Amino acid sequence: MPARILAVSLDLDDTLWPIAPAIEAAERALDDWLRERHPQVAEAWPVAALRGLREQVAREYPDLAHDYTAQRRLTIARAFATCGGGDEHVDAACEAYIVARNRVDCYADAVPALAALAAGRPLVSISNGNADLERIGLHHHFTHRLSARECGIAKPAPQIFHQACTRLGLEPSQVLHVGDDPDLDVAGARAAGLRTAWLNRNGLAWPHAEPPELELRDLGELVDWLQRHDREHAQDSRA
Ligand SMILES: [Mg+2]
Repeated sequence: MPARILAVSLDLDDTLWPIAPAIEAAERALDDWLRERHPQVAEAWPVAALRGLREQVAREYPDLAHDYTAQRRLTIARAFATCGGGDEHVDAACEAYIVARNRVDCYADAVPALAALAAGRPLVSISNGNADLERIGLHHHFTHRLSARECGIAKPAPQIFHQACTRLGLEPSQVLHVGDDPDLDVAGARAAGLRTAWLNRNGLAWPHAEPPELELRDLGELVDWLQRHDREHAQDSRA
């Protein structure tokens, strides 16, 4: 029997909430903020143009690939600079974006599952994005929270998964990583030696040769699977 799973690491965006609506709302919130306070910047950089500028900044700074917050900040600073502005409004503009970006709408199964998961074993978040679990109000479920920004490296690099295991004081084989992305989450975690679960909410076909250990339609299935896993290990230890 494989090792008992002693902790779960969870992806955030598109695992606990859909990310596209949150990003779109954040782009609109920043645009509204600019229109109200700095109309000349809003005029020069409507939402689509600012998105393009962010992509350009990402290409210019490959060393910031793990840090969407820094990319966003540089983008906003450049937008102001092209309109003759300095950096004095960049913090407030970033805040307008971040507040909306963290106003996420969780999948119906996510919050009940988080409570059940956290009651059973330590729960760690591993995200390449800039979600702020404290602002979202879900931080209390997590023993540790790892972001690519803080770790200095993004999924699928094994280092970020290993940092999670180190903080937990566990071997990778004792940690189950759960996420929606076949490459960043499943392939990345597997290469780092973790157990893997693919959260396949849309019923897609698995795109690679080697399947994940577990495939889930929602996080309720994860809770059920872990309960069975615990029962099997409890029976095994009594046998
Ligand atoms: Mg994700």
